[in-house]
Amino acid sequence: MQFDYIQLPYSLASLEPYISKKTLEIHHGKYCRRYLTNLNSLVQDTKFVNIDLETIIKVSEGNLFNYASQVWNHIFYFESLKPFGSSSLKGSFAEIIKKNFGSILFFKHSFLKSIESFFGVGWIWLVLNQNGSLEIITKSDAGNPMRNGLIPLLTCDIWEHAYYLDYQDNFSEYIEAFWNLINWEVVEQRYQNAILK
Ligand code: MN
Repeated sequence: MQFDYIQLPYSLASLEPYISKKTLEIHHGKYCRRYLTNLNSLVQDTKFVNIDLETIIKVSEGNLFNYASQVWNHIFYFESLKPFGSSSLKGSFAEIIKKNFGSILFFKHSFLKSIESFFGVGWIWLVLNQNGSLEIITKSDAGNPMRNGLIPLLTCDIWEHAYYLDYQDNFSEYIEAFWNLINWEVVEQRYQNAILK
């Protein structure tokens, strides 16, 4: 086993009522684990044995890329969340958001709009680009912005398995729920780490 299963940084029920325990049991316990099992099996006997996950994502193709990226994206997504009410967008990072998007409200509006205009399954990302600006982008399937030289700060999983049990076709309710659960301290820390590089 090259890559290990990552435990959630919170209990399965702690995101309720926004994301149910059942959804997390299946999403983290089944989907994420299956991606990891497939990745560990695919990476054997390739030149990517003993290569770190981020490098594999940047340079591999086909299913090795798909599974590597899905594992990374899921860990990043789960670590982007926190129980409701325990985090808010404030302080210096709120100022950075305002500088890049005009206002917090317009930032949220842009995030929702990018999802509305997206077709299929994939991931919505807040990224830091090479000019030092923040951008909201979408990626299909297992897509990952690190392949484009962008630094991920936040992601929302928009595969149906992320929300269908809780919200069925009420996709926008899931996005609102996601918004209520964002761990802004983690997002800010990722930003601080990125600008120090
Ligand atoms: Mn997922």
